[in-house]
Amino acid sequence: MLCMNCRWFVHEDDGAQMDEGTCRRHPPTATYDPESGWAHSVWPHVDWTDWCGEFEAQAPKGRGIDEWR
Ligand code: SF4
Repeated sequence: MLCMNCRWFVHEDDGAQMDEGTCRRHPPTATYDPESGWAHSVWPHVDWTDWCGEFEAQAPKGRGIDEWR
């Protein structure tokens, strides 16, 4: 029951932090940067070994999530 095995986890594949990703269980939080004047959306940043009570196992490889449910 770890983020790395959760259907909501999205691995950050930027080559830098291989053990981190974002949680897509809920919509991102909107933040405003007063210096740039831009709004940003922020997904919760999680480590592969984190977990929470919203965990749902990933679908087996080769099968669509809807077929698996
Ligand atoms: S924080 Fe919870 S819902 Fe999000 S990826 Fe980790 S276990 Fe899944």
